[in-house]
Amino acid sequence: MTRNVLVTGGAGYIGSHACKALAANGYVPVTVDNFATGWRDAVKYGPLVEADLLDRAALDAAFATYRPIAVMHFAAFSLVGEARQNPGKYWRNNVLGSLTLIEAAIAAGCLDFVFSSTCATYGDQDGVVLNEESPQRPHNAYGSSKRAVEEMLRDFGASDGLRSVIFRYFNVAGSDPDGEIGENHRPETHLIPVMLEAIDGKRPELVINGTDYPTHDGTCVRDYVHVVDLVEAHLRGLEWLRDGKGSRVFNLGTGAGFSVKEVLSHARAATGHKVPHRFGPRRSGDAASLVSGSQRALQELGWDPKHSSLKRMIQDAWTWHKTGGYSS
Ligand code: UDP
Repeated sequence: MTRNVLVTGGAGYIGSHACKALAANGYVPVTVDNFATGWRDAVKYGPLVEADLLDRAALDAAFATYRPIAVMHFAAFSLVGEARQNPGKYWRNNVLGSLTLIEAAIAAGCLDFVFSSTCATYGDQDGVVLNEESPQRPHNAYGSSKRAVEEMLRDFGASDGLRSVIFRYFNVAGSDPDGEIGENHRPETHLIPVMLEAIDGKRPELVINGTDYPTHDGTCVRDYVHVVDLVEAHLRGLEWLRDGKGSRVFNLGTGAGFSVKEVLSHARAATGHKVPHRFGPRRSGDAASLVSGSQRALQELGWDPKHSSLKRMIQDAWTWHKTGGYSS
């Protein structure tokens, strides 16, 4: 048996960190990426297959060449605002791409599947802490496309014995503490990297999206988790499947919610710089509050998100930001 793991989206932010963690733990991450949003510079820890997930023949060839023992599926579009404006892009890529991948994996006999899902599948639920049994009521095509793939995995579990660990991420932040890889989006829309761009003058200011939410200070509350902790949970999820423990859903967050204004004040403490900002209107598709109940991951996977203080995440993101990021 090989130690190969097929990693879709391995050139992206979370996928590249997963590749590093896999390689550090004796696996060979085989990146499958079409570079729609990924970076060639981020593929450092194993072979690359440049392919689109809608290209079944290319996927079949990748499974035949590398005979992976499992799939980690990160490749997806993930911007809430864009999903509201262009739902077709999300349904085509996230849902049809996943269907093609799942069918190729099953045809190759590769039945252990780790899937990157999202708290956006829960939608907006009035500030309650969300656990894995909370109802899923996504209110944008990003959340609905991910929920559809979750359902697809369950259906193929029943029909073909596919075993899946589904991780519902809350807000992933921070970067590799060694500075080898990091978070780089084109264009950047995520709160912490946008804040850092405002600090170093790459953009004039941060616009706070809405101050009239029903939260303690009117700005959106999110649960931030360090990417290093997040990918560590994926290794545990992979071992869970390889130990024959079967399909399971886990939230990945810390259970601590921070408002946009609170993240801003932590950024000042973590970087020593004030974040130039102004207040703007709400961003379409945003939930007021998304906070995880993560007991299941802690108890069943033995997960310990020890890097996930806001200060540490911002400091690691700042270290990466100062490198200038990827060039290609
Ligand atoms: N946000 C903001 N200004 C920005 C980027 C983000 O106010 O320039 C807010 C955003 O509206 C949300 C929170 O920060 O309430 C986290 O957004 P992000 O895009 O980082 O992650 P998401 O929650 O959409 O996955």
